[in-house]
Amino acid sequence: MKRYGLFIGGEWLEASSGTTFDVLNPADRTVVGQAAAGNAADVNKAVDAAARAFPDWSKRTARERSGLLAKIYDGMMKRKEEIARLMTLEQGKPLGEARGEVQYAADFFQWYGEEAKRIYGETIPANSPDKRIWVLRQPVGVTAAITPWNFPAAMITRKVAPALAAGCTMVAKPAEQTPLTAALLAEIMQEAGLPPGVFNLVTGTQAEEIGDALLADSRVRKLTFTGSTEVGKTLMRKAADTVKRLSLELGGQAPYLVFADADLEQAAIEVTASKFRNAGQTCVCTNRVYVHHSIKEEFAAILARYAQELKVGNGLHEGVQIGPLIDEQALDKVESHVRDAVDQGARVLTGGRKLRPSEQETGCFYEPTVLLDTTEKMRVEQEETFGPVLPIHAFETEEEALALANNTPYGLAAYLYTRDLSRAVRVSERLEYGIVGVNDGMPSTAQAPFGGMKQSGLGREGGRQGIDEYLEVKYVSVGLK
Ligand code: ADP
Repeated sequence: MKRYGLFIGGEWLEASSGTTFDVLNPADRTVVGQAAAGNAADVNKAVDAAARAFPDWSKRTARERSGLLAKIYDGMMKRKEEIARLMTLEQGKPLGEARGEVQYAADFFQWYGEEAKRIYGETIPANSPDKRIWVLRQPVGVTAAITPWNFPAAMITRKVAPALAAGCTMVAKPAEQTPLTAALLAEIMQEAGLPPGVFNLVTGTQAEEIGDALLADSRVRKLTFTGSTEVGKTLMRKAADTVKRLSLELGGQAPYLVFADADLEQAAIEVTASKFRNAGQTCVCTNRVYVHHSIKEEFAAILARYAQELKVGNGLHEGVQIGPLIDEQALDKVESHVRDAVDQGARVLTGGRKLRPSEQETGCFYEPTVLLDTTEKMRVEQEETFGPVLPIHAFETEEEALALANNTPYGLAAYLYTRDLSRAVRVSERLEYGIVGVNDGMPSTAQAPFGGMKQSGLGREGGRQGIDEYLEVKYVSVGLK
């Protein structure tokens, strides 16, 4: 059983409260480990450490920072299986998916290790022969990260890697459900030789107290958050007092548009992967499918067959493709969304009930569910379900499909399936989303800019753009007289 303290200033410390909290396996509710219960006093210590480390870290050469990030990548690769198993234990996702996440998470260290060497400035022609205009890009300083439970490794590395590459230091607060994976990553960073205080981890159950302490501290120049839109808005309001820079990756409401010319089997494979990955608990998961009316019945039948074949259970068991939902609250939401849809006339093609795969598996399991003939009035089409439920809604025209897809306050990911190139271009340009998958249900990758429009957030993570979030632009005007 893993037991971790807080990682502050390069050391593992007890929380100042002296207490720890249990981390539960969502598949069977057994205790899988313990983490230190940090509070505002610990945040203060961590910010002290990050502020002390900043001057030296930011002055290191890009090559040195790059080398350290490469070592962290190697460290993650060496301990890939251990990280994946721990992630499945505390989060529930199937082991195969957890291994995929470790690779995805590690890729951010590799990619940003390389990008660290390409933080270029600019020179701009001046209006006078006696002047020079230089544009420098410099690290913003101490940063804070608050992360969710659905990707316990990748949501940390997607923030830490560009921050460190840019020359920033960081204090991170992982979700209370999944602190152990975050602590294991801190251990790997320590082993790689990251200088003390460059990365600090404060685990705890008092999310608001920890968040408030990070936000109130004017030494913290930037907050990067991934989580619910509701919490994101609260943090945004509170960040106003110190005018912190913000990156927010919030909720999604992803539509998947399937046109009449689609290869239905291939489209169903993409939709199934996009919908049921992580039991539907990702912010880019397909939340609603819009299908051309001429192929509705046939396509729905294929999707129902695929959903029925998915094996549900403890993510550590062989062959399991869908793990448990994270907790009772998540299960209640899924159940209420399905009930609301059925009450308003949707047909259940498969699933629609909670599940107990075996005596030992006492977690919150739910059958992969396909609902046909859902409408805009139903909660499944209005809110992010965050569970294994796939609503199908027929459309007549491209215009109607686009209107349905864009009719939401969210704008994170959207998908379409068609073999018509002109349509693919037209539709992808008109979707009000930060990420569009054309014949691709799994677009996330370290080298691409990930992020949302509208109420899905601010800023981008990943890609060349991701490092800009951790850099200030400084303009230096030089007089030569
Ligand atoms: P989810 O619905 O995915 O759990 P949340 O937005 O509730 O999303 O949580 C995402 C992260 O935000 C977690 O680390 C959680 O502890 C943290 N969090 C939740 N509420 C607050 C808050 N009021 N202030 C700061 N952090 C918070």
